[in-house]
Amino acid sequence: MSPKKHRKFAGRLNWRRLLGGLLAACLLLLLTTAIRQSALRDLAREFLPAPAPQAGLSLHMVDVGQGQALLLTCGGKSAMVDTGLPGTSNEVVNYLWKQGVRRLDYLFVTHPHSDHCGGAKDVVERIGTQVLIIPGYLSEEAAFATAGDWVGKTDTPIAITHAGQQYTLGEATITVLHPAAGNEIDDMNDLSLVLLVEYGGKRLLLTGDITEAVEQKLTGIGPVDVLQVPHHGSYTSSSAAFLEEISPDIALISCGKNNDYGHPHDVTLSRLEQAGAEIYRTDQLGTLVVTVQEGQILMKIENE
Ligand SMILES: [Zn+2]
Repeated sequence: MSPKKHRKFAGRLNWRRLLGGLLAACLLLLLTTAIRQSALRDLAREFLPAPAPQAGLSLHMVDVGQGQALLLTCGGKSAMVDTGLPGTSNEVVNYLWKQGVRRLDYLFVTHPHSDHCGGAKDVVERIGTQVLIIPGYLSEEAAFATAGDWVGKTDTPIAITHAGQQYTLGEATITVLHPAAGNEIDDMNDLSLVLLVEYGGKRLLLTGDITEAVEQKLTGIGPVDVLQVPHHGSYTSSSAAFLEEISPDIALISCGKNNDYGHPHDVTLSRLEQAGAEIYRTDQLGTLVVTVQEGQILMKIENE
């Protein structure tokens, strides 16, 4: 064999091997990615530095369609209140990573409906939390059993909370206003945790899916700066009397585009307008971020 022919043969063989190797690598990558896409991405992220924590208190109403997922950050600490439906948990986890959240200090689940607790399993497994906090109802055993249904088997501590308990998040305080200890509420929406978040002289009220029945019991809250409008803007909440009592400047509504429930209802929107609130909706604007900094409230539309 002449040296020229030998070189030609060797070149052809290498080219085939190269093609074969590339094809195998692509197939392996596709297979691995399909099977463990999220796990790989999570692993890769471990090596990325977290962005520096933002100053002040921020409330993020993450756009999860027809559901609710809220993130609170303050002084490098973070808490979630609800996690949206199971189908949007990947977006929620991605959002947490983007915000620099590597582990939550608290995960509050306002009530065990899937548009609030559905993403909790994924958030607990892929982000983690120091503690999962749920409302108590019927009995502690029933509350823990229900949490087990949606969060699965976990080593994460689960705590039952009730009105009067307080949590510290950086320099912010989170006070539970509802439900009371030993309640006998059987309407899951009315079981929703109601949380008052206070920071720098500003007050933010988070209400889950409570109806007017709970609003009537929540007397003496006084004016708030920001309201998470109850139950995605349903007409069964946001009663005129309640809005008059709390007089919110900013009203945030989490709901899906053209959802089957007609949320938010026109009557709710007009009550909020009459109460003098500026209304922001995730179905129209995407993820909403309210930041309290140096006594000021800044509104940011995350998708812009
Ligand atoms: Zn809901």
